[in-house]
Parts: sequence; C-alpha cells; structure tokens
Amino acid sequence: MTQESTRSRAPSQPADCEVIVVGGGPAGSVAASWLARHGHAVQLFERDRFPRFHIGESLLASVNDVIAAIGADDAVRAAGFPKKWGATFMLPDGSSERYADFASAPAVPTPQTWQVPRATFDDLLLRHAAASGVLVHEAHRVHDVAFDEDGVTVRVQDGDRGVTRAVRAKALIDASGRGGLLSRAFQLRVDEPRLANVAVFSHFSGVPRQEGRRAGDIRIVARPDLGWFWLIPISEGLTSVGVVLPRSAFQARSTLEPADLLDALVGDTPIVSSLLSSARREWPVRVERDFSFSSRAYAGDRWLLVGDAGSFLDPVFSTGVAIALESGLEGAQAVAAGLAKGDLSTRRFSGFARRQRRRYLSFRRFVLAFYTPEFRDLFFHADPPQRMFRSLISVFAGYWNPPLTTRVWVALFFLLVRLQRWVQVTPRLSPMAAETGPRRNANSNPAR
Ligand SMILES: Cc1cc2nc3c(=O)[nH]c(=O)nc-3n(C[C@H](O)[C@H](O)[C@H](O)COP(=O)(O)OP(=O)(O)OC[C@H]3O[C@@H](n4cnc5c(N)ncnc54)[C@H](O)[C@@H]3O)c2cc1C
Repeated sequence: MTQESTRSRAPSQPADCEVIVVGGGPAGSVAASWLARHGHAVQLFERDRFPRFHIGESLLASVNDVIAAIGADDAVRAAGFPKKWGATFMLPDGSSERYADFASAPAVPTPQTWQVPRATFDDLLLRHAAASGVLVHEAHRVHDVAFDEDGVTVRVQDGDRGVTRAVRAKALIDASGRGGLLSRAFQLRVDEPRLANVAVFSHFSGVPRQEGRRAGDIRIVARPDLGWFWLIPISEGLTSVGVVLPRSAFQARSTLEPADLLDALVGDTPIVSSLLSSARREWPVRVERDFSFSSRAYAGDRWLLVGDAGSFLDPVFSTGVAIALESGLEGAQAVAAGLAKGDLSTRRFSGFARRQRRRYLSFRRFVLAFYTPEFRDLFFHADPPQRMFRSLISVFAGYWNPPLTTRVWVALFFLLVRLQRWVQVTPRLSPMAAETGPRRNANSNPAR
C-alpha cells in the first residue's frame, strides 16, 4: 500500500458506516466507544480474537478521566485489578528509594489507578465498545486503505472465513498499534535512535509485594548500565517482570537465549535478584526491540492516528496506555466535530495533531533524561525539594500539561539536571548505583 494507492478517486458508493476504527487495543476501543455513545455509526476491525496477550500493564492516574468519559469506570472497578497508587524507583543495590505517590501530586484528581493483565483489560474495553453500539469485528485484518474525495474504503480479510470484502466510511481512525497501518503506508514514522532500547520480560509467581497500600504499586529498579527493571503486580499471584536495556548492553550479551539473558540480568541486579529469589517463571520470556518513534503527521484528510499507531515511547514511565486512551478520546472528538461541520480535512484536525505532538514531546523529555546519569543523580537525591518532586509526580501520573506553577518546578528540575553535567549540584551516585561506563553513554543526551 503506497500513498498513491491510498489516494485513488473511487466512484462514489454509499458508506457502510461513518467511521472505521482499525485496531481493538485501548486506543481503538476508546475512540470507537466514545463515537458510538455520541450517536455515530462505527465499525471496528481487530486482527486478533480477544482476549489476547499484550505487554503494557501499568496504568497512570490520568487514564481514570478517559475511562470515565466513555462510561467504562464501573466495569473497570468491578474487574478487581490490583490497585496502583504510585511508583517506587530504586537503585540496583537497594541503597536509595524514591516513592512517587500519585496522591501527593498537585493536579491529579483521582490518584488511584490499576495494574492490568492486558488480555483482560483490552477484552473488557472491546466488549464495552460493542455494548456502546460499535459493530466489532474480531479476527478481521485491514490490509488496504483507499481515500477519495467522498470517503475511505478499506479491504478487510475475515480470518475465520478466509474472505476479503470492502467496507466504506467517511473517516478512518488508525489505532493499529506499533504495526502502524497508515504510518507505514505513508512513511510517516520517525525513529528515536537515542531510545533504541530492547525489552526482555515474562510473568512470575512468588514475588513478594510491598506493604499495605503500596502492595499494588510498580517498582522500577535502575541498572548500572542505565537500563532498568520493572516489577508490576498484575494479579493476586502474578508479577510482570521485565528489563529494558540500551541496545549496546543487549548486543554485548547477544549470544544468550532470552531466558538465560533475563536470568543473567536478574543475577547482576542485587535488589531484583533478592526479590526473585523464591519466584517461579510462569511464561516464556519475550523480547521487544527498537520501540520508540513518533510521526511526521498525526492526521490527514479523513484520517487520524491514535495510540501507538502514531507514536510510541520507551515505557519507563508507563505512558503508553495513558497516551493511547487520551489520544483515542481526542481523536474521536475531533472526528465527531469534523462530521458535524462536514469537514474532515487535515486542517480541521490540526488541533488534534498539535496536541499529539506536544504530548509526545513532553513525555519524551523525561524518558530521554532518565537514561542520563545526571537525571539519576538528582532524582535519587536523599532529600529532594518536596514541591519540585511533587511536580514531577504530576507528570508521572500522566498529566503532561499541568498548571503553570507545576511546569515551572519541572523546568527548574531540568535546569538542575543540565547543571549537574558540569558542576556537582548533588553528589554523584555510588559506582554500584550509577553507570559503570563513561559518564555519558550512547543514549544520554542533555535532558531537553
Ligand atoms: C516492553 C513494553 C512495556 C510496556 N509497558 C507499559 C506499561 O507498563 N504501561 C503502559 O501504559 N504502556 C506500556 N507499554 C506500551 C503499551 O503496550 C502501548 O502503548 C499500548 O498497548 C498502546 O495501545 P494501542 O491501542 O495504541 O495499541 P495496541 O494495544 O497495540 O492495539 C493495537 C491493535 O490493533 C490490532 N491491529 C494491528 N494491525 C491491524 C490491522 N491491519 N487490522 C486490524 N487490526 C490490527 C492489533 O491486533 C492490536 O490488537 C509497554 C510497551 C512495551 C513494548
């Protein structure tokens, strides 16, 4: 599929619906649900049959707003997912711990969120879309898209019956995830070489939890090579454990099988090794590579990119689902406004596209910084200024565009991170806690 083939002038045919949504992950389900609940005729095509495995299990507090906006809050609450109140960031030897409690941050209206086995969570949202009036087609892969002056036609393959048919609508929301149906077709993808990291992960039983209210929180353990581990309690018995490594660190161990690699990395991260000492691996070990990118455009005539179909960021701050849900909601609202005005042009969608870009850049700044020693020196400082730290937590909770005072504190923090490169604003971390290589590595650019 090329840009040319997607811009053919097909003869005018009646539309089967107003909006086609490609992909039934969180972004697609939210976009489709909101549109259907506001009276629009929507068809959603999902390649797989749900429930299906997906990585990305730790949610941010900001997702509560979106879940409420599509009326799925009761269903999510009733699902009994582990409650998450924040994130604990730790050094590999356990010598320092920083607790980001969402309840302590300004601008976070509902601090408690969830850790979710994505098979269950995504299935719940897809069923919610169907209950909201969306015509949901599972095991249907969209493999061709053609835009014309009056609408869009997709060719869809029914995986169960092996037949292909054409479906026509006025607009298309691409929520196809990192597969990126339109961004690949239009060659929109812009890779982030500085975040060319690799993730290795599995699910374990027998991992001890934190005490009390923090039992459901995510634990992030920084590694000396500037990588990091996640430990996410996704159900009563299971904990998702994974490590993200700079590609160079991964390549240095490229001879190892994924399971041996994970074992080796656990083994040389003392605090993780101790937490997993009585744990049992319940799933095969999976690997995901090179997963950060943005897009040259997020919208065009009759189309929008939402969630990972538009951009994806290294998951250190668990931003993926929050971005997917928020952009799914905003994409749906932009299309509804366009339908009301009879204008589904690129220009009409420019506000949506601008916010997509700003959201991505706001989080990206944090993610790039996390991979620098300077950020970690300051972040793990024994006694950070509380007002500044609480402001950072607002962003960690998903509120990337907080009120002015919070933004000023965040800017001040980044100024200190920059200064730390040249003068010692705060003591450097100890060798075990900090990087073992040169002070600046391939990933580490100034926090911008
Ligand atoms: C290692 C790793 C760890 C992560 N950890 C976290 C985390 O802790 N917290 C967090 O919030 N995020 C995390 N993420 C990110 C998170 O997984 C994604 O951001 C999120 O799933 C995006 O949702 P989406 O709806 O945009 O895409 P997806 O969830 O990927 O959904 C896209 C759907 O589209 C379907 N599809 C694709 N192509 C087609 C087609 N041609 N036709 C029909 N259907 C199609 C797919 O089958 C899929 O179901 C992590 C990601 C990685 C790689």
